[in-house]
Amino acid sequence: QKAEWAKLLNEKTVSVDGHHVELAANIGTPNDLAGVINNGGEGIGLYRTEFLYMGRNELPSEEEQFESYKTVLEGMNGKPVVVRTLDIGGDKELPYLDLPKEMNPFLGFRAIRLCLEEQDIFRTQLRALLRASSYGNLKIMFPMIANLDEFRAAKTILEEEKQKLVSEGADVSDFIELGIMVEIPSTAIMADQFAKEVDFFSIGTNDLIQYTMAADRMNERVSYLYQPYSPAILRLVKMVIDAAHKEDKWAGMCGEMAGDEIAIPLLLGLGLDEFSMSATSILKARSQILRLSKNEMEELAEKALQMSTTSEVVEAVKALSDKVM
Ligand code: PEP
Ligand code: MG
Repeated sequence: QKAEWAKLLNEKTVSVDGHHVELAANIGTPNDLAGVINNGGEGIGLYRTEFLYMGRNELPSEEEQFESYKTVLEGMNGKPVVVRTLDIGGDKELPYLDLPKEMNPFLGFRAIRLCLEEQDIFRTQLRALLRASSYGNLKIMFPMIANLDEFRAAKTILEEEKQKLVSEGADVSDFIELGIMVEIPSTAIMADQFAKEVDFFSIGTNDLIQYTMAADRMNERVSYLYQPYSPAILRLVKMVIDAAHKEDKWAGMCGEMAGDEIAIPLLLGLGLDEFSMSATSILKARSQILRLSKNEMEELAEKALQMSTTSEVVEAVKALSDKVM
């Protein structure tokens, strides 16, 4: 099987009936680049920049960040690279920021909430990104966006830093797409409004599932509620994809669900444009999608959206997969 997958390294990911989707990789550091290339990644769908900030005693400088972003952009040779701005908080702490303990860190002062408040940190990262933008195909993505005001505020700060850099004579790309992670239910519900202002969505199911089901993603005792294939999640995913397409924008997914064998047929059917996963899952996912018909998966997804339980959905996908795999 591995040998068969290896043949797909430089192939496009196209369904039996000719529909192309993009298979991208999630990375945490520039060291992950080799893995992306060796596994046939068509881009990077999520560069988690937290690791630049973690395991040290102080914030990374603009220069240090610039070098990392440039390395990744150059390494991908013009292929898309979605960089997510700092998503600290929740399960990821930065001791040197000395933030007060919270009762519910996953519902607290994290990610874009922190960046909009601690603007020095945010502006430094944005400057590093903007300066690196001329070395490849950069897309910038904000995490944990809960409403449009947050997106607009973050975008304004980005534009201010861009103006400053341009007036200082820096080389900044004019083609940086700006998107958001959809990982909070309010944002999925309001996706039609967001779609008018963002360039793309990337659905973060790791968090979207926990917030939709009110089930901590780290808590084993409630993991029975943490169900990616539940009709509730599928309906939210559909809202986001449909909203994007209505405004001619693209919708990706960078949560674990995007690389999941049972989810992939459903996501293809719902019209997901980009699937971002751990690099080692890419060739397997490609081999799966090459055997699926988009048309049939649309019918499957349509039925799944009308089902009442997760187990019905799983059975329907398995019945269909047994036929095609
Ligand atoms: C997500 O929430 O789905 C996601 C990709 O972000 P993280 O896992 O880093 O929270
Ligand atoms: Mg998340």
